[in-house]
Amino acid sequence: MLAERVKKIKPSPTLAIDSKAKAMKASGVDVISFGVGEPDFDTPEHIKDAAIRAMKEGFTKYTAVGGIDPLKDAIIEKLQKDNGLSYKRDEILVSCGAKHSLYNIAQALYGPGDEVIIPSPYWVSYPDQVLLNDATPVFVRTYEADSFVLKPEALEAAVTPRTKALILNSPSNPTGMLYDRKALEKIAALAVKHNFYVVTDEIYEKLVYDGACHISIASLGEEIKALSLVVNGLSKSHAMTGWRIGYTAGPAAIIKAMTNIQSQSTSNPNSIAQKAAVAALTGPQDFVAMMHGEFDKRRKYLVEQLNTIEGMTCRMPAGAFYAFPNTSKIYGRRFGDRVIAGSNDLALYLLEEAKVALVHGAAFGDDDYVRLSYATSLEDIIRGVQRIREALGNLKAGK
Ligand SMILES: *Cc1c(COP(=O)(O)O)cnc(C)c1O
Repeated sequence: MLAERVKKIKPSPTLAIDSKAKAMKASGVDVISFGVGEPDFDTPEHIKDAAIRAMKEGFTKYTAVGGIDPLKDAIIEKLQKDNGLSYKRDEILVSCGAKHSLYNIAQALYGPGDEVIIPSPYWVSYPDQVLLNDATPVFVRTYEADSFVLKPEALEAAVTPRTKALILNSPSNPTGMLYDRKALEKIAALAVKHNFYVVTDEIYEKLVYDGACHISIASLGEEIKALSLVVNGLSKSHAMTGWRIGYTAGPAAIIKAMTNIQSQSTSNPNSIAQKAAVAALTGPQDFVAMMHGEFDKRRKYLVEQLNTIEGMTCRMPAGAFYAFPNTSKIYGRRFGDRVIAGSNDLALYLLEEAKVALVHGAAFGDDDYVRLSYATSLEDIIRGVQRIREALGNLKAGK
């Protein structure tokens, strides 16, 4: 018999779509994937070289559980330089990817009876990590008309004496929304007033467009900093998804608890990847700018094109690498005797008929949308959009 908690969760839906698309590809089908949430660029050479050097030098043993000091120092310097945040070594924990950082936070903070507020649409792992720790996710809907920004009134209405934390993700996966200073100040004031933690997932901070700037809510004052757990990592910024390095900055007591949890579960993150991460953070950053420029071009092309497809409307996302078009006008249309009733049907139809993989909005808590990652070549984006246009053109009005 499996443990009770296992029944509450599901496999990551984004990884599930990706594996279905990969399986189709492996069997020879020319699938174009807008499904994946990882940069299509290769990890820069100087980062790989640092890893090779680490191996050759025998840096292949256990390290300190929470990460090596040179990496903690590189993270501290980054947080100071990019985010205006001052932390000490005992306020930093390096983990096996930002997802692991978020899981350590969940283990350290959430328990039975606790409520964790999650604005929707949300990243797929937030609710399940809350459930795995016997706490209750409380969803607060955000709306396209508000650019998916969490309204302070809606947040306050969801707060109860059991509210333990709010999970923020800016720029957002899946909506591409970015909080400005004003919106963050209002949220920070509520966190301080009601004394709940803010888990701030800043993994897409380097990917903001049109001259916008990313602000960490933790930088808005000492009171909110004391309630903030800043989560970030190398996966998205340096195309290092496979290396599994993420980190948390936060109050020393919480970091210590998380470090103890990590010491009893994974131990240290991979020693070689830690050396690579030092090179990524302290080496040249021109790669980050190059990737940003490419994503920006694709973003504009994809969103422009999606808006010319009948039945779809798409906001220009301010950050990350996802387009999140509203597809609700398509629901109810038919293909033969098959009805496209919602985002899941639409995603399946496009995968089977157009050989295009994307993720149904329902996976992120909003059935009116689908998510397309533009972390794929412009050439594939051009071909993929054409296929979507044709496949949707073949649908008939519902009865
Ligand atoms: C990709 C992603 C992560 C996890 O990144 P890893 O460091 O690879 O674990 C965390 N949060 C969001 C919103 C993401 O999209």
